[in-house]
Amino acid sequence: MSAHQPIYVTQPDLPPLEEFLPYLQQIWDSRVLTNSGPFHQRFEAALCEHLGVKHVSLFTNATIALVTALQSLRITGEVITTPYSFVATAHSLLWNGIKPVFVDIDPVTLNLDPAQIEAAITPQTTAILPVHCYGTPCDVQAIQRIADDYNLKVIYDAAHAFGVQRQEDGEWHSVLNHGDLSVLSFHATKVFNTFEGGAIISPDAKTKQRIDHLKNFGFVNETTVVATGINGKMSEFNAALGLLQLQHIAKAVARRQAIETRYRSLLAGVPGLRFLERPSTATANHSYLPVLVGPEFAVSRDALYQRLRERGVMARRYFYPLISDFPMYRGLSSAHPAGLPVARQASAQVLCLPIYPALEDADVQRIAELIRSARPEASFLPAAAPVTTLLAA
Ligand SMILES: *Cc1c(COP(=O)(O)O)cnc(C)c1O
Repeated sequence: MSAHQPIYVTQPDLPPLEEFLPYLQQIWDSRVLTNSGPFHQRFEAALCEHLGVKHVSLFTNATIALVTALQSLRITGEVITTPYSFVATAHSLLWNGIKPVFVDIDPVTLNLDPAQIEAAITPQTTAILPVHCYGTPCDVQAIQRIADDYNLKVIYDAAHAFGVQRQEDGEWHSVLNHGDLSVLSFHATKVFNTFEGGAIISPDAKTKQRIDHLKNFGFVNETTVVATGINGKMSEFNAALGLLQLQHIAKAVARRQAIETRYRSLLAGVPGLRFLERPSTATANHSYLPVLVGPEFAVSRDALYQRLRERGVMARRYFYPLISDFPMYRGLSSAHPAGLPVARQASAQVLCLPIYPALEDADVQRIAELIRSARPEASFLPAAAPVTTLLAA
């Protein structure tokens, strides 16, 4: 038990180093380090197979992939998005000179609320950028209906949704096949990591080709540049690691699931503590374990966060503050708190508990116990009051 070492909200999962050494040997032997080398090509093919998608373009990270996805569909003007996400979601819009328009979230899934999208559409709106928050699928059908009605593109920030599948007409399909494009992150803190990395899922070869040009400066051959591309390429090192990580991901997700089940049973019935519902029509990757700390809980969310920290448990408030509260966004009219009550409440109540394959059962037990035993500080007593005064009172 790691009582003296801090427990972080996550710990990157890595394969045994000796399994990676043969891959490194191949890279050293070939001297092919990047530029769509053999591991890059193998990893793209393996991901298509693993995820059940048609076309994958690997990237150096998800943020550059989001920026490129918006470029590839020539998105301009205004884009409707969620304030309840990691800041890179909205940053990808500003990097393209696009105005984010924040719309509130659904209280059950904490994803963009489709019922509120239409009211935010203007003549400048060209796309919707929803997030499958914590890997819970968005209401993809409702979002697509709106996109079709108003001729908008849909780009999913699927940074949390690695491997997630939805039940559709009795069959399981990757959630990544919805919308015009989906963007994955393989950052160290994500459920599936390549140290750093990301990918765009596209529905057809032509779109993939455009994206592949854009991530390589716009080159189509040695002497022809067709677009203002960027350098978004994934290196052979990261691609080789990803190929190996694929062999271990099923076991890692299974272990995460066991940890989530344990937390849920240890914390069942605690007043004021609410886990998010898992939809029965989708698989989960257990990348995050958010709980909402409501007013009936013994202490405030922030007091619980502090209590855990002081005991070496680094739970995180994902997502607090809201993106719309950061200085580059808060001046937008859609960022006004009055328009985002559900996101505001979730942001004030959420705490993501540590969850990762190497987390031991005993640690889960201890963290649950720390949460169960939280009580208000006896702060009504004057700190330096002499004992005699208290006795006299
Ligand atoms: C992590 C994350 C990103 C950014 O991913 P990087 O690979 O670190 O660039 C974008 N969006 C969401 C929702 C994320 O959680």
